[in-house]
Amino acid sequence: TLSDRLTSVLQNLRGRGRLSEADIDATAREIRIALLEADVALPVVRTFIAQIKERAKGAEVSGALNPAQQVVKIVNEELVAILGGETRRLSLAKNPPTVIMLAGLQGSGKTTLAGKLARWLVGQGHTPLLVACDLQRPNAVNQLQVVGERAGVPTYAPEPGNGVGDPVDVARRSIDEARRAQHDVVIVDTAGRLGVDEEMMRQAADIREAVQPDEVLFVVDAMIGQDAVNTAEAFRDGVGFTGVVLTKLDGDARGGAALSVREVTGQPIMFASNGEKLEDFDAFHPDRMASRILGMGDVLTLIEQAEQAFDKDQAEAAAAKIGTGELTLEDFLEQMLAVRKMGPIANLLGMLPGAGQMKDQLAQVDDSHLDRLQAIIRGMTPAERNDPKIINASRRQRIAKGSGVAIREVNDLVNRFYEARKMMQQMAGRFGFPGGARGGS
Ligand code: GDP
Ligand code: MG
Repeated sequence: TLSDRLTSVLQNLRGRGRLSEADIDATAREIRIALLEADVALPVVRTFIAQIKERAKGAEVSGALNPAQQVVKIVNEELVAILGGETRRLSLAKNPPTVIMLAGLQGSGKTTLAGKLARWLVGQGHTPLLVACDLQRPNAVNQLQVVGERAGVPTYAPEPGNGVGDPVDVARRSIDEARRAQHDVVIVDTAGRLGVDEEMMRQAADIREAVQPDEVLFVVDAMIGQDAVNTAEAFRDGVGFTGVVLTKLDGDARGGAALSVREVTGQPIMFASNGEKLEDFDAFHPDRMASRILGMGDVLTLIEQAEQAFDKDQAEAAAAKIGTGELTLEDFLEQMLAVRKMGPIANLLGMLPGAGQMKDQLAQVDDSHLDRLQAIIRGMTPAERNDPKIINASRRQRIAKGSGVAIREVNDLVNRFYEARKMMQQMAGRFGFPGGARGGS
């Protein structure tokens, strides 16, 4: 995974203060592989990486992050921006009904989406009408009706026995029906083909022409991978659309299609479908998709928290001490306070790549425990904090009494401190704190 590879990049780049061209290139290479693995189309990857490099060159180096983290942060920000920043809402017609038309390849999830969208709109107080304009497949009308029943909304379809209706005609008549029966939204389900094909495009374009939809949503399967670009371009040119819906995000696709479609068509991704059930549906969240594409949500969270909580100078001083094993109880206390600002310590350490094998130790660290540790350290004299070796039996007794704990707890703390110092030294070596290279006792 990218997270693993990034760990080694982090090591390679540790301890440097500036984003050099080499740093940027090295990290950009990893990002490039991650994007390709996420199925982002190659031309889109190229454009994107070039953009990233440009921005990274001019970037200020932050105190809280090392160069690789800094590049990752920039990549993430750019991804979120390209994926659309804030989510766009459906545009509703001033004079109802609002017409929403669905277009996309067969199997992309249009009919399922029609039901999801209907249910979602009902939840917002709307009274949608589903319209069956996929008259190509024998079972398509029935499938929409079933979905509509589940969502609790009626479906408008050609009368059975009237022969195969004309989808354009059905679409047109459905608008009158919606006015008559006071439906304020009409959702038009259309036919798709397995591949892009002229007849399908023409039919969809004719339906669009006939009903003048307020929104045309291009429905695209997130698993489509590299084909996303061609398909999106074909629908943009053949029918045109105002928004994108990404489906099947419950699968293991990393979601590169989102970036490809967005970059190529410039249209916003509005909804995300993540399952077969009607409730498996949500507004699209660019930030979540960005971390899915990068495959490193935890690292991104960590970067964010590190930036928020760390005082630059203090962090550097402490990190240097951790790396060289000169950590004192005073630093230990300071670090504990700084770390607590970042949230529960177990979460924090669990987010570091490679921290998996320390899970058991982490499980023992809880916040109320930290409160007691803090009290004990506060009960020590500065000399004791700076040089824990001098804490003999009579001092332990005094500290225990002063901080209201058992002597055993003071002993525990001192022992744990030595353990922690050793562990931090090892971690420093692994995660590239300055000075870590010299660590390892
Ligand atoms: P259409 O041909 O575009 O109308 O696609 P359908 O709505 O018929 O969906 C095709 C298949 O994909 C069906 O078996 C759906 O149950 C399934 N499907 C649709 N959306 C999703 C989704 O978000 N996740 C999963 N796992 N399956 C989906
Ligand atoms: Mg369908």
